[in-house]
Formats: sequence, C-alpha cells, structure tokens
Amino acid sequence: MRDEILKSARRVVVKIGSSLVSSKESGLRPERIDRLADEIAAIRSNGREILLVSSGAIVSGIKKLGLKEYPKSLPVKQAAAAVGQSRLMWAYEKSFERLGIKVAQILLTHHDLADRRRFLNARHTLAALIGFGVIPVINENDTVAVDEIRVGDNDSLAADVAHLVDADLLIILSDINGLFTEDPRINPSATLIPLIPEITEEVEKRAGMSSTFEGTGGMATKVRAAKKVGEYGVASLILNGQEAGLLPIVLSGGDGGSLFLPKGRRMTSRKHWIAFTLRPRGQITVDRGAVEALAQRGKSLLASGIVGVHGPFEAGDPVSCLDQDGKEFAKGLVNFSSDMVARMKGLKTTEIQQHLGLPEYEEVIHRDNLVIL
Ligand code: GLU
Repeated sequence: MRDEILKSARRVVVKIGSSLVSSKESGLRPERIDRLADEIAAIRSNGREILLVSSGAIVSGIKKLGLKEYPKSLPVKQAAAAVGQSRLMWAYEKSFERLGIKVAQILLTHHDLADRRRFLNARHTLAALIGFGVIPVINENDTVAVDEIRVGDNDSLAADVAHLVDADLLIILSDINGLFTEDPRINPSATLIPLIPEITEEVEKRAGMSSTFEGTGGMATKVRAAKKVGEYGVASLILNGQEAGLLPIVLSGGDGGSLFLPKGRRMTSRKHWIAFTLRPRGQITVDRGAVEALAQRGKSLLASGIVGVHGPFEAGDPVSCLDQDGKEFAKGLVNFSSDMVARMKGLKTTEIQQHLGLPEYEEVIHRDNLVIL
C-alpha cells in the first residue's frame, strides 16, 4: 500500500522547513539547498511534477540584517522576510540552474486562497508553470501578511497548495523522522510508525504532545496539514530532510518517514475550500433535529432549526454550525447577515413571510454551500 502510493504519486508538493535550509548562526545553507535540489531533480524523473513550498526567508533575513535574535515585532519580522526571501530565491535559482531546471517564485497570503476567483487564478498560473516544466517555489507573502490574512505556518500553506494543484502527495521535509509510537526523547524504545491509515483523535493527541520539542511548527501542524489534505484524497509523507539520499529512496519504495493515508471519499474542491481554506466569521447553533437533517439526511439549513447566532457576519460569509453542546459539525456559506439570522431563528418559512416579508432565500445555508465535518 505504502509503496504503491509513493511510487505512483505523479504530482507532488514538497514542503521544506526553515531548519533544513537556514540557521540563525550561518543564515542560508546553500550546500543543503544544492543537496535537496539534486534529490528533487532525481525524483522528478519519470514524469513526476514537483512544486516546492519553502520556508527560511525570515531566518535567512535575520542573518543578512545582522540581528542577534528572532525578531518579536511584526515589521522587523517582515523586513527580515523581505531581505531573506530574495536570498532564498537566489539560492534555489542558482542551485536548480546547475541541473538545467527553471524555478519561479510564488508568494501567497490567505486572502489569495480565500477569494475563490484568486484561488482559481493561482491554480491556472501554477498549472501553466508546471506545463513549462518549471518548479514553482512557494512561500507565504510575509512582508504584507498581518494576522488576519496570514496562513500562519508553511505546513498549512503546503496543504493549501496541495489542494490548489490537485496533488497526489504532500511531502513535509523537516528535521524530524515522522510520527513515533511514543515521545522518543522520553522513551528510547519508541518506534517510528511507517503507515498511519487514519488520523484518529489519538494520533492528533500524540502529535500535539510532541509539538513543544520538535522544530518550528512541530508535529501538530504537520498532522493537521495531513488531515486537511487527506479530506481531499491526498496522502502525506513526513520525512527527515537532514538525512542525505532519503527522499529518493523512500519514493522508490524504501523505508523512512511516516505516510498518512487519505480518506476514501474525496471532497470536491469547492467543498474542501469552504471547509478548510475559509475561516468562519461566526457561528450558528442548531437544535438536534437540524443536526440530524443536515448530517444524516443531506438537507439545507432552515431558520426553524436555529437556536443561536454569534456574529457579526454578512450574507455570503463562511460560518460554523454548532450542535447544542457547542461542537462544530458543519461549515457553510450563509445566505443572510447575522442580524437577519437572529431575527429569523426558530421561525418557520410561513412565519418569516408574515413577520419579515418574503426572504430572498428559503435556506439559511443551502446544501450546496454546506460541508459536514
Ligand atoms: N514563511 C516563513 C519564512 O519563510 C516560514 C513560516 C514557517 O516556517 O512555517 O521564514
């Protein structure tokens, strides 16, 4: 199973962590980039298409600006990212040029992904680049990204990119070996898990526990990324990029890293985008009957099943649907503003017409814009 997925993956997104290509002490590590470029060129044969998501701009910028430590203030971080990004790109450019491979820089923010038109635009551009045989090198546009438009971590960005380009496999290269049965630093007999068939709560918990000691994003953001792409039918491999030669060995069926299998049923791109790319602007709490109608019977959300609204949000915004225990069970694009939903809640369609006039839509969230999580 593992072999089959790894050998047959045709379009692959490779995320390269900061710790692999840069260090605070020495800045960018061109020798490491050269070695990774060699390995990426090797796995690119046989018609395999590669897209890179590379971190390392901020750390390399810290060195270039002569800063003593990781900056706390946002503008300084952004300045470091700006000077670091050009150096990072220059290193990739030079390294792949040795191998006769062209690269392209793509910088994205959450806004570019959350706006469906821009999302589709980016998809077309990336497809065109791949068509030219170019390797896109993607990073977050840190210089303009403030909190509300940040993706936040590149594991998550890489997962968004895997969805964006309909990848077969997401590879997260960092300084960790993969998912272990236990914390290997506490229990030396802990073993690496080569195949994770399903991301259960237990798997997430185990990943969460190790997040404090391993790398920048840690295991938690990696497993979250694996879960996100798994819903779109994409497998994820977490692999140690410090080990020379491991990447090509594993992709031709050798041992190493942890492979997370995708879900059997794949969400459509649009539903995945609603569920995982968009950020909810508010919450709608519904009664038990509505939970059942939505989750089991594939119905749209009507006002009569709504018991609570938490905004503010506008018509068209993404919102979470909660059950009465406060558990999020669905996400969707809402047809009315939070003020309007608050006035409609609990009312039957005829009552809405009597009290509020004929609404523009019958459903508060239409089935086509609703994803059950
Ligand atoms: N975009 C950041 C950088 O290039 C890295 C973010 C991350 O490591 O997740 O420095």
